[in-house]
Parts: sequence; C-alpha cells; structure tokens
Amino acid sequence: MSEDKDTFMGVPRDTIDWKPTIDYEKCDYCMECFDFCPHHVFEKRENEPIKLVVANPLNCVVFCRACSKTCGPDALTFPSKAEVSKKIKETREAMSSHE
Ligand code: SF4
Ligand code: SF4
Repeated sequence: MSEDKDTFMGVPRDTIDWKPTIDYEKCDYCMECFDFCPHHVFEKRENEPIKLVVANPLNCVVFCRACSKTCGPDALTFPSKAEVSKKIKETREAMSSHE
C-alpha cells in the first residue's frame, strides 16, 4: 500500500497530534533543533522576543523525536506515543466503519 505524505498508517496526517513543543522557560535559542530537522517544522523569528516557533507541526514525522536529542536544555517535549497510537487506531476503526 502506498502512502502519500498527508497520511500516516492510513489516517489523515492532520488528525494526528504529533509535534514538538518548545518550553520557552528552558530554550536558549541555540537553534540546534532548527539546524537538525530537514522538514521545516521550526521557523526562526528574527527581531522578535520569541525567536523560534513550531510553524509547521504537520511536517513533523509521526513518532520522530530526533531533534530532542540535539537540545541541551531539554526544552523539547512530545505527546505520549501510546496515546497517539491509540488515537490513530481509533480513527482508523471509525473510518473503516463508515466505508
Ligand atoms: S521530531 Fe523529527 S521531524 Fe519532528 S521536528 Fe524533530 S527532527 Fe523534525
Ligand atoms: S535545541 Fe532546544 S534550546 Fe536549542 S533552540 Fe531548539 S528548543 Fe531551543
């Protein structure tokens, strides 16, 4: 079965809440995560107090947490993998019951 980038495990990507969250209390704007991720999830904000945002959460690869390993201050968090897996399964079941 082929999948385009808008679906994951057969469900629409935009129904899946998987993305990094930046803890601005911890973030020191080293930009390691920005430099690391090739998927344009993060965007810099020049001349603003908050200099980095999660601008494209749907670009984040579901269940990837790789950028968090680059973050010295441990400022990146992700949803619970178990919770998200459960939700994907429920969405898939709801979709198949409507076919
Ligand atoms: S978890 Fe992976 S895909 Fe998502 S922002 Fe980090 S490096 Fe990019
Ligand atoms: S790697 Fe961590 S500390 Fe550095 S910019 Fe990203 S979130 Fe902030």
